Amino acid sequence: MGNTALLGMIDLGGAHARLGIARRGGGLTATTEIPISLGDGADRVLTQTAHALRKLADGTPLAGAGIALPGPVGIPNRGVSSPSRMPGWGGVDIAALFEAEIGVPVVVENDANAMALGEHFARSPRATNSVTIKAGTAIGAGIVIDGHIFRGAIGTAGEITHTRVEAAGALMCSCGNRGCLETVSSGAALVRLLREKGLDVSSTADVLTLVRNADPEATALAHTAGQHLGEVMCAVVNFFNPDAIYLGGALSTLEPFVSAIRSQIYEGAHPLMTRDLDISPALLGADASLVGTSREINESLARESTD
Ligand SMILES: [Zn+2]
Repeated sequence: MGNTALLGMIDLGGAHARLGIARRGGGLTATTEIPISLGDGADRVLTQTAHALRKLADGTPLAGAGIALPGPVGIPNRGVSSPSRMPGWGGVDIAALFEAEIGVPVVVENDANAMALGEHFARSPRATNSVTIKAGTAIGAGIVIDGHIFRGAIGTAGEITHTRVEAAGALMCSCGNRGCLETVSSGAALVRLLREKGLDVSSTADVLTLVRNADPEATALAHTAGQHLGEVMCAVVNFFNPDAIYLGGALSTLEPFVSAIRSQIYEGAHPLMTRDLDISPALLGADASLVGTSREINESLARESTD
């Protein structure tokens, strides 16, 4: 296996998977998206995506593969540890299952961590410490310190979405607690809030369309959602003192959402912390998690060859 071998990456979402191929040690060479349903379970989804990944590689053998998952990934990172968004996937050794499908070593990573790694290394000069927010249908965050993902004790660092905020009151969250940021700031929350107001929306994509068309209700809700997220981020900024915060995910493409986060942090965090703080939109768009995952596959293959 020389450096010409390819890497295959999968970013799993609830209703679709984004697939990418990269050269070992290099950038993406091909991407595609296929419809999936996470609810079909690990076996079916992994068979489907392995088939599509082989097709995307167009006959060239893979040297390694990786999967980014929309759920907390435990240590050792082989599968999801709390599958509230991935029913039926709990306790499954996803890495082993996919290795059996695709025939090469597989790394498994949380999607926000993968995005954070991709965004961190997409910049020059590079930050020392960065936090990347993935605000889409759900909210995730990844922390990169000195070029490495910070995982915490059990691999779930960055779950800011389950921080209690006053505005969420006693709203029930998917985690089993009440009043989480997730219930007022996520794409899923905006869908629910707009439906309560009688608007015909069923997905985060519908919310994006409404805000881009300057619907007043949707715009106001996107702004409020950003304020709540910004409020939680003030504590993160004061505690962690990052060089940079990168805002990724579908909601971060909305101006009212992003500007509310920025102003909340600049107003609410300690002035010393925000003086040189870079708050920037994500650069890699939908490919961020694929790029971050390819980086992890490269590192894992390099470790294997020196072991
Ligand atoms: Zn929660």
